[in-house]
Amino acid sequence: MSLLAVKNLSRRFGGVTAVDDVSFTVGAGEAVALIGPNGAGKSTCFNLIDGQLAADTGEIVFDGQTISGLKPRQLFRLGIARTFQIATVFPTMTVAENVQLALLSHRREIFRFAGAVAKRHRSEAVALLARVGLADSADRAARMLAYGDVKRLELAIALANRPRLLLMDEPAAGMAPQERAGLVELVRGVVADGQVSVLFTEHSMDVVFSFADRVLVLADGRLIASGTPDEVRADRTVQERYLGT
Ligand code: ADP
Ligand code: MG
Repeated sequence: MSLLAVKNLSRRFGGVTAVDDVSFTVGAGEAVALIGPNGAGKSTCFNLIDGQLAADTGEIVFDGQTISGLKPRQLFRLGIARTFQIATVFPTMTVAENVQLALLSHRREIFRFAGAVAKRHRSEAVALLARVGLADSADRAARMLAYGDVKRLELAIALANRPRLLLMDEPAAGMAPQERAGLVELVRGVVADGQVSVLFTEHSMDVVFSFADRVLVLADGRLIASGTPDEVRADRTVQERYLGT
């Protein structure tokens, strides 16, 4: 059974059909890339899956349960986490405190936040930071981090919630090539550890074809191809409409 099944999903904005009768699945432990030109509907798909937006038609099933209509907070509790195209962390808190706050939130201890964040879950936060290569930055203010490291911190925050599905909207956007390679390695490691599946969007075809188990291609809101990276690369429609060859 698939971890995530999207069935005939559609969403319009006025006259624009941003997502048009899209169906796909993400299996347990799979890394699936959603690609397509700007305006293809990738972010809208993410916003539908994580409950930010309601679909006009269609159904979303997560781990056997229909999740259409649930709120982001409810989906978060079920194990769907999201990182954004523009990374968001608390800039004046330290790197470790950002992760500790996520751990507090995950355990619904947020009411104890005042004065407690400095102590609670510190060692667990540092372990998560080590996993993303940020252990040495634990006590720096988050605003002091380079952009690539903010992305790593965002990943640690997402992992603090022990997601089963991680939605990553252009995780490597705005990163230098060196940072980008590091982040890809990192996410690959997280998926290889098991337990978490990743659905991600990405402009760099190098990243997509090296990392994804399967690739979904959107154009004008419609799924025009899907398959292994090799299958998608060889697809004539994709070559003509998207890869430009
Ligand atoms: P992508 O992430 O692939 O670049 P989007 O999902 O952001 O594409 O956008 C798909 C289409 O839907 C675009 O035409 C975009 O202008 C439109 N769109 C997305 N979000 C909104 C919105 N909140 N209001 C109106 N139109 C939107
Ligand atoms: Mg987008």
